[in-house]
Amino acid sequence: MLTANAYAAPSATEDLIPTTIERRDVGPHDVLIEIKFAGICHSDIHTVRGEWGPQQYPLAPGHEIAGIATEVGSEVTRHKLGDRVGVGCMVNSCRECANCLKGEEQYCLAGNTGTYGAVDRDGTITQGGYSTHVVVTEDFVVRIPDALELDVAAPLLCAGITTYSPLRHWGAGPGKKIAVVGLGGLGHMAVKIAHAMGAEVTVLSQSLKKMEDGLQLGADHFHATSDAGTFETLAGTFDLIINTVSAPIDISSYLQLLSLDGALVNVGAPAEPLPVNVFSLILGRRSFAGSAIGGIRETQEMLDFCAEHGLGAEIEVIPADRINEAYERVLASDVRYRFVIDTATMK
Ligand SMILES: [Zn+2]
Ligand SMILES: [Zn+2]
Repeated sequence: MLTANAYAAPSATEDLIPTTIERRDVGPHDVLIEIKFAGICHSDIHTVRGEWGPQQYPLAPGHEIAGIATEVGSEVTRHKLGDRVGVGCMVNSCRECANCLKGEEQYCLAGNTGTYGAVDRDGTITQGGYSTHVVVTEDFVVRIPDALELDVAAPLLCAGITTYSPLRHWGAGPGKKIAVVGLGGLGHMAVKIAHAMGAEVTVLSQSLKKMEDGLQLGADHFHATSDAGTFETLAGTFDLIINTVSAPIDISSYLQLLSLDGALVNVGAPAEPLPVNVFSLILGRRSFAGSAIGGIRETQEMLDFCAEHGLGAEIEVIPADRINEAYERVLASDVRYRFVIDTATMK
């Protein structure tokens, strides 16, 4: 066993504190990663606070992990010592169900193994990336291309793939009109990636406060959803709308913005059910869908795409002792656009 420094929540109601956690011995198919940077995702906050179900504590969150492979098991073939590597939202799956065999491990029918707060194969609870080291089976470790710095690459492992996957699946590209609802951690990556894919990109944000940012990130248009005129002006416009907002929004009004056969895809996850007026689906053969991260093969494809187009996340790097403060700022939408923990400050 290896002891790693970490930041973990002792309970659902306490701040994260510095501590140590145990990592398993490096098995024949495992990679030991010295974590350099870990992104802070909104999901981390929901999970450690028990808002998405009860957890076992202490719990170290973090599923946007970038680092260096410092030890590889005897049978590892995909990675070697010194490789720049990343780990996202899952660290294993059953590998034999129909979805795993398609390379869509995130939809494993037996449930994928989450990077933190999940029961691992050995029965222990997984601990995430707010830590100096992690041991992960090689098939769930991806390669970070040299063209991407590790700090701006870390958020790609959740925010990047969560937006890349639906953009690919629903065919974002030249000639397609894409709207991104919400310009936060996920939204800013959706704008960058959709723009790089060649689509015409519109940001739909509550106000025009982030307009300058949005246009700089690659958006062609920017509209405020607080302005009722926006919904009239843009009716029937978009081939695809990516909704990154995890608070409830009026889905039926957004569906009216889709063109024939358009799709509104939720990647944000509100806790409450969202009512949908079925007429807004029927009239225009529209779809209302959801999407979760991406498979491992697609995650690698996303990293290679981002490297090729020079896309990293917009980040604010913080030392570990500012994680709790960062949580409050994430909840207040006061970050442009992702906090990334420098794990060297955990020593
Ligand atoms: Zn996440
Ligand atoms: Zn499976």
